[in-house]
Amino acid sequence: MKFLQRIIFAIMEEQVQKSFIWNLWHGCHKFSEGCRHCYVYRGDSKRGIDSTLVHKTKNFDLPVRKKKGGDYKIPSGSMVYTCFTSDFFVEDADPWRGEAWEFMRQRCDLDFLIITKRIERFDQCLPADWGEGYDNVTICCTVENQECANKRLPVFIKAPIKHKRIICEPLLGPVDLTPFEIGKWACQVVAGGESGTEARACDYSWVLLLRDECLRSGVPFWFKQTGSCFIKDGRLYKIARHLQHSQARRAGINIIP
Ligand code: SF4
Repeated sequence: MKFLQRIIFAIMEEQVQKSFIWNLWHGCHKFSEGCRHCYVYRGDSKRGIDSTLVHKTKNFDLPVRKKKGGDYKIPSGSMVYTCFTSDFFVEDADPWRGEAWEFMRQRCDLDFLIITKRIERFDQCLPADWGEGYDNVTICCTVENQECANKRLPVFIKAPIKHKRIICEPLLGPVDLTPFEIGKWACQVVAGGESGTEARACDYSWVLLLRDECLRSGVPFWFKQTGSCFIKDGRLYKIARHLQHSQARRAGINIIP
């Protein structure tokens, strides 16, 4: 068993090595309920940084940067997690986004993953050659509660995107995805609680509600992490940060394609 675990960890480590974070701009504006305890704001406040001042980072051109020998710094076939310290579609970044799309087009050998709460800005932020979407770009729409699902998912469904994921994180209440026929268009649903000292509770029954709909619809599901305050069978558990992912994994409810 230990040997098997070592192999699994080795595979996971291998995957981590092939993943990169591309924070091309930093800063954001709180937009909906899920932003209340935004980790960007939390981190910036400790360093005395004003999170509302959105600026390009020194890693803006990371995907196209090369080593001395001429190879790209990010090797072909990697997954690039994009814009974790802002929202890719935040208004302040409108002047820079065209160049960012250009990098993604140039690096069609990489997979880019973009998470947003601003899916309603998607149409006005696209490059001219987007068409039905770039093959190498996955867009993830965050819906933290039913209100956000009702508002954002109809827009997300219609948007020309090749790969769509729904992110229910931080999950702040029960979300019924039944009306949205996710089996026809979503490639994954991710659920997770909120972290930090002021975290709001995530109820396991909300996670199971999402999971059951995924099961009915044939959509992969990932219970990513419990968050800091987790309710199961009416009992509240405080979960330490380093255990939040492993506790979720232990629930054994992921639906793997
Ligand atoms: S959209 Fe994301 S980065 Fe922006 S304030 Fe909300 S949680 Fe923070």
